Amino acid sequence: MSFVSGLKCRECSREYPAEALNVCDFCFGPLEVVYDYQTISEAVTVDEIARGPLSIWRYKDLLPASGDDPVDIMAGFTPLIKARNLGKRLGLNNLYIKNDSVNPSYSFKDRVVSVAATKAIEFGFETLACASTGNLACSVAAHAARAGIRSVVFIPSDLERGKVIGAAVYGPTMVAVDGTYDEVNRLCSEVGDNYPWAFVNINMRPYYAEGSKTLGYEVAEQLGWRLPDHVVVPSASGAMFTKIWKGFNELACLGLLDGVDAMSFGVDQNTVHHPAVTTRMHMAQAEGCSPIVTAWKEGQSHVRPVRPNSIAKSLAIGNPADGIYALRVINNSQGSGNSVPESQVVEGIKVLAETEGIFTETAGGVVISALKDLAESGAIGPDELTVAYITGNGLKTQEAVEEVVNPLSVKPTLSSFEEALSGRTAVSS
Ligand SMILES: *Cc1c(COP(=O)(O)O)cnc(C)c1O
Ligand SMILES: [Zn+2]
Repeated sequence: MSFVSGLKCRECSREYPAEALNVCDFCFGPLEVVYDYQTISEAVTVDEIARGPLSIWRYKDLLPASGDDPVDIMAGFTPLIKARNLGKRLGLNNLYIKNDSVNPSYSFKDRVVSVAATKAIEFGFETLACASTGNLACSVAAHAARAGIRSVVFIPSDLERGKVIGAAVYGPTMVAVDGTYDEVNRLCSEVGDNYPWAFVNINMRPYYAEGSKTLGYEVAEQLGWRLPDHVVVPSASGAMFTKIWKGFNELACLGLLDGVDAMSFGVDQNTVHHPAVTTRMHMAQAEGCSPIVTAWKEGQSHVRPVRPNSIAKSLAIGNPADGIYALRVINNSQGSGNSVPESQVVEGIKVLAETEGIFTETAGGVVISALKDLAESGAIGPDELTVAYITGNGLKTQEAVEEVVNPLSVKPTLSSFEEALSGRTAVSS
């Protein structure tokens, strides 16, 4: 069972039953899941969570699908690593990396898809579908395979090879669309009107998005039920960014954080801010697609859509569905919006790989470059507890760093090896 009491429009507060719906009939606002937090607070304890499975389903009472028989390929419970080497390089003594690149299909999308797929099966759907910037297609295809149902994944045709193959291998129907993600998404909305499919990020979106809350829960649990002073988070639609913040506030309101008193969720559950949640939420986007960061810098409350042109394809959403809510989270948390020059993305990937042994994709390069800027500008102090979210795996975007391939070419003899090695040493020293 789950503790969902229904859906509610974020704009006009009209209520809807918990069905496969994502927009309000009256004002076209997005729908969000409403919970019975009173019952949740009686059911959830820190000890009970700690006894749970080593996946996102340890937080099942806080998710909008039943954890009794989830579609589970073990998303979540990924490492939180103290980044001593990278921290030293950036002058940060209390830096952690949340390494979500090691999820089963190699991105954080497994968290959201595991929830959406479970809910889709609950609703009786027989086809799982999505509009994807790449990682989502991989995750939808993997979870559909696990659930034994069909999947149809729509992607922009210019995606990285690693994402195309990384999705195709699970056997979905793959549709490569000659257009941007925003055009793919528009097409999928029309397809969804004509086919009885569970589009995880369209008609299942309210449930899907909630899966990202586990990125907040896990970091808090791994820090001993404390929250960081700062987080750096990559954004495309902005959904994950808002849900990490929501996760932090839920833990605080439920009294699950160390030394924090429980608080009522109030009437508008989705905008609750517990005063003990002082984490500053820093958003990272690449300059070639940074509509939310641009709106924040200009002090706007709305996001002007852009046409993406970025190496960070997983973040290339020009018309972000959760943009205005993400803006509010930046402001409410006294965080910041950071756009990283395209030329710095690969540098970010390489710095993380060389200092911490973690190979991330372009979205992670964006995060590390934004983190560097925040450290250099003093926005993050040297001793403040900081978590950088690394959400995708570098093996899927190898094109970005191809130039690192530079082996010593030798004959199979010791002399040839030593000659090559001394040549390399002479050059590099
Ligand atoms: C999808 C994705 C994001 C952004 O998620 P949103 O919730 O749409 O902002 C970040 N990182 C990676 C690797 C992704 O695949
Ligand atoms: Zn409405």
